[in-house]
Amino acid sequence: MRVGSQGDTTIVIFGATGDLARNLLLPALFRLCRARVLPEGVKILLYARRPYTLETYLSEVEAETLKGRHDADWARFAQRFVGYVQGGLDRAGLAQLHDYLHGNAIFYLALPPGVFATAAEQLAELYLHDESQGYRRLVIEKPFGYDLESARQLDEQVRAHWSEEQIFRIDHYLGKETVQNILVFRFANLLMEPLWNRYHVEHVQITAAESSGLEGRGGYYDQAGALRDMIQNHLIQLFTLTAMEPPSSLVSDDLRTEKVKVLKSVRPIPRHSVNAFAVRAQYTRGTVSGEVVPGYLEEEGIPPHSTTETFAEVKLYVDNWRWRGVPFYLRTGKRLSNDYSEIAVQFKTPPLHLFRETPLDRLEPNWCVFEMKPAEAIYLVAQAKKLGLELTPRTLVLRAPYRESGTEGFDAYATLLLDVLEGNRQHFLRFDEVEWAWRVLDPILKAWQSDDSPLATYPAGSEGPAEAHRILDSEMHRWRPLCSLGEYT
Ligand code: NDP
Repeated sequence: MRVGSQGDTTIVIFGATGDLARNLLLPALFRLCRARVLPEGVKILLYARRPYTLETYLSEVEAETLKGRHDADWARFAQRFVGYVQGGLDRAGLAQLHDYLHGNAIFYLALPPGVFATAAEQLAELYLHDESQGYRRLVIEKPFGYDLESARQLDEQVRAHWSEEQIFRIDHYLGKETVQNILVFRFANLLMEPLWNRYHVEHVQITAAESSGLEGRGGYYDQAGALRDMIQNHLIQLFTLTAMEPPSSLVSDDLRTEKVKVLKSVRPIPRHSVNAFAVRAQYTRGTVSGEVVPGYLEEEGIPPHSTTETFAEVKLYVDNWRWRGVPFYLRTGKRLSNDYSEIAVQFKTPPLHLFRETPLDRLEPNWCVFEMKPAEAIYLVAQAKKLGLELTPRTLVLRAPYRESGTEGFDAYATLLLDVLEGNRQHFLRFDEVEWAWRVLDPILKAWQSDDSPLATYPAGSEGPAEAHRILDSEMHRWRPLCSLGEYT
């Protein structure tokens, strides 16, 4: 079991009244504390503009986190809080922090992306980034920038004051068990790596589907859209981990260098043929889990003529020796039929001459699937003979579960918070990763901004737009259903 570094450390959560802080960060810290892996010297300081007393704030979060259940460990957790400070990102507000910070400090910016730079600059103006009393680390949430230009600008503003060693750019997908396992499964087994290339892989599908809608975040989402919200960060990370070469070590820079190499090898998407590489769509009114839900344009706060995509799909080629010619398809969307995420690798069909004139002559190919949601599991799909006198095929699904849906464990934020405490940067983004991800997607963003690309529609609760198949390379490439393999094989 991991135990974080020792010493007095204060985690300052900016935007403590927001959704991320209350629903993800504090529950994650609570789980770490309950499991006794949060080092004793770690204290928590809350910071936001809205007036609260620490007692009221904690009792609200306790009720939300524990859903009314009693948990004896909460009282122990509550002792970790050193205060709730009310203030904005101005000098007077932030200067209050001097009274609380002695030793190490982690500043977690759970703030709207538009104020990341201000927060970083203002903290530095007050010398709160100064490391003479202990380390000072700055955790920056996603999205890092709005496009290539704004990401570069934000990086400049932050790095004018903070060193790269102090900055932790979060992509919480990198804290997920199954995502971390891609590395281990690929490089700790002889079984897979010899097959992991263009000679054996037909194509790769990466999916992150959500059944939920905007959940009160319409203002943010309409500015972002699915490409920025999910593909630029989470899905690109899954893509680079799947496609990268083995790093020379697990030292964070070796790992990140290999991921950047993948992005640098992506065949640039020409601005004039974006439609051959990307699909965008918006949901219309439909039924999700038996409930009729409004279309995107009917949602509160969404302009009636918005062209923001709620579904995005991209085809990428990695023009290197390992992957030349193998398409990687990435898709994500809101208000789809299911909450389902996976990386699925389809292998080429073996020569079947041997089985001509038997039902085995048209076999399903092999698949290796990393399911991330709802369960965390690896599947291998293989073919075998059905019991009986005939030579009839049967698809075998070999399932290795990690964690069933609904079972408790450490979630991505808990893992990443512990990483920040330990100074482990392996699961955080270096700026060139962020920059190259924007560079890969920039032609698509530009084309979609100019509104000259078609915007398809799909009913809420469906598997996505019919156009989703448009950019697939071959008849053999079909999007897989949005549910666990075991449910349809
Ligand atoms: P919310 O809007 O729920 O919360 C943001 C908080 O920031 C508010 O509680 C607000 O607190 C404070 N705030 C807002 N504007 C300002 C400002 N101008 N100056 C100072 N403080 C301000 O957002 P989320 O919690 O959902 O998201 C926070 C960050 O995390 C965002 O960057 C988001 O992209 C990212 N993120 C969120 C996820 C989620 O599931 N929620 C998932 C992944 C990333 P107050 O008004 O009290 O000061």
